Amino acid sequence: MEERELVIIGGGPSGMTAAIYGKRAGLDVVLLEKSSTGGQILITSEVENWPGEKMISGPDLGNKFREHAEHLGCEIRKATVTGLEPGEGRHVIRTNVGDISAKAVIISTGAAFRRVGCKGEAELTGAGVSYCAVCDGSFYVDEEVAVIGGGNTAVEEACYLTKFASKVYVVHRRDKFRADRMACARAANNPKIVPVWDSVVESINGDELVEGITVKNVKTNELTDIPLAGVFVFVGTVPVLGWLDDKLLDRAEGGWIKTGTRMQTSIPGIFAAGDVRDTPLRQVVTAAGDGAMAAMSAEHWITTGDITKAF
Ligand SMILES: Cc1cc2nc3c(=O)[nH]c(=O)nc-3n(C[C@H](O)[C@H](O)[C@H](O)COP(=O)(O)OP(=O)(O)OC[C@H]3O[C@@H](n4cnc5c(N)ncnc54)[C@H](O)[C@@H]3O)c2cc1C
Repeated sequence: MEERELVIIGGGPSGMTAAIYGKRAGLDVVLLEKSSTGGQILITSEVENWPGEKMISGPDLGNKFREHAEHLGCEIRKATVTGLEPGEGRHVIRTNVGDISAKAVIISTGAAFRRVGCKGEAELTGAGVSYCAVCDGSFYVDEEVAVIGGGNTAVEEACYLTKFASKVYVVHRRDKFRADRMACARAANNPKIVPVWDSVVESINGDELVEGITVKNVKTNELTDIPLAGVFVFVGTVPVLGWLDDKLLDRAEGGWIKTGTRMQTSIPGIFAAGDVRDTPLRQVVTAAGDGAMAAMSAEHWITTGDITKAF
């Protein structure tokens, strides 16, 4: 079996940063990514909170991460990880292209969209229900669409959709958005954005394509039909851990991996970084910070068997 010092699972911002720090710390590192490196930012058009870049597209930022890692000689391999078997001193990572044993592992498989779970959502996904404004927004030139959600991603993607759509309803269960002040102000000043406060989507309607939604006001229970052509869902995320035995590592509610401040999990030598872990903020900059910390902890673990001392 192939033997490595550090295996990083996932090539989003946390994994790529871990690879950069691991390589610079002199470790023998391989990063495994099942699709394209870059992670979730690949589907956003504008990132404007990564320090040093006033504004950059998600794919461009993802490419920069990859170029940086490759410039340092990081090995990035296309592989889907299907399991992890912890051992004494070495852990086995199962993949679709062969197994690897490693002294340390960093799990950085990120998060994926949560579904609303309402009637019509599953049936009309790909037929007007989308989870990616950048991918599908341009289908709705001069049409009316809805965004479901009220956090940063929902509000920012709603603003982006006004480039195409004539009107963007934003259906939110509260009477104000959870997004940051700048995003809220931008939405408030955009005449194409129409908030639908205190409301949840009961059903997404249509036979073969989305034709409208039915929303319920949570205060009055009143039902309202809104005719529209597309629905974009941004109601939070779930960890991408279907590949991992759910009893293996300590988890928080929702399945997020519990870590210490050094990104250590409940099993020595296995670390977690970025959106996949139990953390109050899921952003590129926090994912990158976690990746750096995880790589340095892994380096300490590999060289001294101890992660409690200062780096
Ligand atoms: C639409 C949208 C807009 C956003 N806008 C911003 C923004 O403007 N600013 C900001 O800071 N953050 C933004 N975010 C959040 C940000 O993208 C995430 O916080 C960040 O990408 C998390 O990085 P990560 O490395 O932890 O995980 P991810 O980015 O989720 O990367 C995980 C990687 O692991 C891979 N993977 C998963 N399972 C396996 C497996 N079994 N085997 C191998 N590889 C696997 C995935 O393919 C993926 O590439 C946005 C997110 C979305 C969805």
